[in-house]
Amino acid sequence: MDDCLFCKIVRGEVPAEVVHTTERTVAFRDINAQAPTHVLVVPRQHFANAAELAAGDPQASAELVTTAAAVAVAEGHGEDYRLVFNTGAGAGQTVFHTHLHVLAGRDLGWPPG
Ligand code: IMP
Repeated sequence: MDDCLFCKIVRGEVPAEVVHTTERTVAFRDINAQAPTHVLVVPRQHFANAAELAAGDPQASAELVTTAAAVAVAEGHGEDYRLVFNTGAGAGQTVFHTHLHVLAGRDLGWPPG
């Protein structure tokens, strides 16, 4: 997608602090971190949300989660971290390229805001 921000990050056209890459995923720090560790894991291929990714590329969907786990371990939070997919504008999704939030490093309250 030519005008998708996260596609541009995947292609290296927009700068990002990339912390981990795999064949199907790229993980980079969120520009507006909500926790000491706040990383976004995205598929290299464009899908609008988590359900579309799971239907269209189940292997990449699984790789998003295993990449997130690897990031949590690398950042020293392998036992305690939160994974979030916001889906739809009403749920807070602002970038319509699937991304898995990895949050860790502080007390994470429940229910989330
Ligand atoms: P959403 O609200 O679940 O769609 O999450 C989008 C996330 O992307 C937000 O947490 C933003 O802070 C983050 N974000 C937006 N632009 C950039 C960027 O250029 N680099 C890294 N993160 C970004």
